[in-house]
Amino acid sequence: MKRIAIIGGGISGLSAAYALEEKRRAGLEVQYVLYEASARFGGVLVTDRVDGCILEAGPDSFLTEKPWATDLCAKLGLAGQLIGSNDADRKTYILVRGKLVEMPDGLMFMVPTKLAPTIFSPLFSTQTKLRMAQEWFHPPHKANGDETVAAFVERHYGPEMVDRLADPLLSGVYGGEASQLSVRAVLPRFAEMEAKYGSLGRAMLAARSAARNAKTPPRPLFTSLENGMQQMVDALVAVLDADALNAGATVQAVAPEAGSWVVSAGLQSDEFDAVILALPTKAAANLLQRCGPQLAAELGAIEYSSSVTVALGYDKQVRDSLPPGFGFLVPRSEGKRMLAATFVHNKFPHRAPEDRAILRCFLGGARGEQMLALSEEEILSIVREELDQILQLRAEPLFTRVFKWRGAMAQYGVGHLERLERIEALRQKLPGLALAGNGYSGIGVPDCVRSGTAAVDTTLHALGLTPIGSSV
Ligand SMILES: Cc1cc2nc3c(=O)[nH]c(=O)nc-3n(C[C@H](O)[C@H](O)[C@H](O)COP(=O)(O)OP(=O)(O)OC[C@H]3O[C@@H](n4cnc5c(N)ncnc54)[C@H](O)[C@@H]3O)c2cc1C
Repeated sequence: MKRIAIIGGGISGLSAAYALEEKRRAGLEVQYVLYEASARFGGVLVTDRVDGCILEAGPDSFLTEKPWATDLCAKLGLAGQLIGSNDADRKTYILVRGKLVEMPDGLMFMVPTKLAPTIFSPLFSTQTKLRMAQEWFHPPHKANGDETVAAFVERHYGPEMVDRLADPLLSGVYGGEASQLSVRAVLPRFAEMEAKYGSLGRAMLAARSAARNAKTPPRPLFTSLENGMQQMVDALVAVLDADALNAGATVQAVAPEAGSWVVSAGLQSDEFDAVILALPTKAAANLLQRCGPQLAAELGAIEYSSSVTVALGYDKQVRDSLPPGFGFLVPRSEGKRMLAATFVHNKFPHRAPEDRAILRCFLGGARGEQMLALSEEEILSIVREELDQILQLRAEPLFTRVFKWRGAMAQYGVGHLERLERIEALRQKLPGLALAGNGYSGIGVPDCVRSGTAAVDTTLHALGLTPIGSSV
C-alpha cells in the first residue's frame, strides 16, 4: 500500500484527493491523507447566505471554455446544478473620467472584432481607433523572449488600450497589473496569434469563423453552481474518505528520509511514500527550505497579491435604479481603490431574490496589502463612497460582508514560464514530490482542478503505479 500526503485543502488539494479516491475505489493500492491548516476545506472557495442571497467570498464562477471544473462537477453528480452566466445581459462598463462607458460589442478580451461598435464607442480616442485600424496590418512577430502584457498590448493598440482595457481586465482576474504580468504566461494564446497572424484582430476573426464552421453551440462565458461555489467543496468532501481528512492541521515540515517523506503537523509526524504540496508557492517554499533550498527560492520568488471582496445587498428600488449588465471595471488612472464591481443579480439571477440587488466589489492589486490593514468599517466606507461617486448610489445597504484574502492570487511575472522549467527540474531531484496550485499554470478554478489531478498522475508515475496520463 502506497501512502500519499496532500498538503493544502483548497480546490487544488481537494481535486488531488478526489483523483486518488477514484483510483482507490478502482482498486489501486493507495492511501492518502489531506492536511488542511484551517478548520474548513475549500481554501478561497467560500459561499455565504444572507437574506435569501448567495454571496461568494472568493471566486464566483469559472470560465466555461476551460473544461476541468465542469467535468469534475459532472463526476460529482453536480451537472444539474451548473448554471451559466446570464449572457443575454452581458454588458460591461469601464469607468472613464468618472462616467461608466459601455464596452463596445465585439470586443474579445481587448481585441475589437466588429468595426461599427468600436468606431462609434466613446471608450477610445480617435488615435486609438486609428491604431486599431493599423493593427489589422501588424506583421507576424515571434518574440525572442517574454514581455509584459502592457508592452505587448501597447505594441498592438497603444497605451490607452492598456489603461482602459487590458489592465482593468487583468486586475479583475489576477488582482495584478499589465505592467508586471507576463504575456506568455497570462495570455499565451495572444502570443501565439501574434506569431501566426501578426494582427490579433485578424486572428480572432479566424478563430471565430473556425468555431462557426465547427458548429460549436454558443455557451455562456462563465459557469457556476446554483447554490454557490461551496457546493463543489461540499460534494468533494462528501465523497472523500472521511478518515483521510485532516482539518485544523498546519503542516510545519516535510522531510525526505530514507526513501520516504516525513510530514509533521502539530505534535504528530507521519511517514508517506510521496507528498503533494497543493499550496500557494510561498507556503510550499517555506516547507521545502531545508530539503530543497534552491527549489524553495524559485517558489518563493513567485509573487502573490492580496485582495478584498465586499458584498452589499440592496432592495428592489436600488435594483431598478442600477444600470443593466454584469458590472464595471475601474482603470487605475481613475484613482479609485475599487478595481471592479459585479451586479450579481444580473450576472447570476439565481443568486438574489427578485426584490434584492447584490453588488460585489473587488479591491486589491498593488494596494491590496494596504487594504488588508484597514478595518471592515474603513473598507466599507471607501466602497460606499466610491459607489456613490460612480453610480450615485447613496442608499443604505440591507447587509454588507467584507472578505479579506491575504496573498491568495499568484502573479505570473515576466519569465514565469522559464521559472516553471527550473522548478520542474529541481522538483525532479526530490523523488516523490509533486506540486499543485494556482502559482504554476493557471490561476482559475479549472486550472487548479487540472493541477491537482496532474499532480496525482505525476506522483503515481513516480511510485511506479501508473504511467503519466493513464488511468486505472
Ligand atoms: C477573491 C478571489 C476571487 C477569485 N475569483 C475567481 C473566479 O471568479 N474564477 C476563477 O476561476 N478563479 C477565481 N479566483 C482564483 C481561484 O479561486 C484560486 O486560484 C483557487 O481557488 C486557488 O485554489 P488552491 O487550492 O490552489 O489554493 P487555496 O484556495 O489558497 O488553498 C490553499 C489551502 O492550503 C492551506 N494551507 C496553507 N498552508 C498550509 C500548511 N502549511 N498546512 C496545511 N494547509 C495549508 C490553506 O489554508 C488553504 O486552504 C479568485 C481568487 C480570489 C482570492
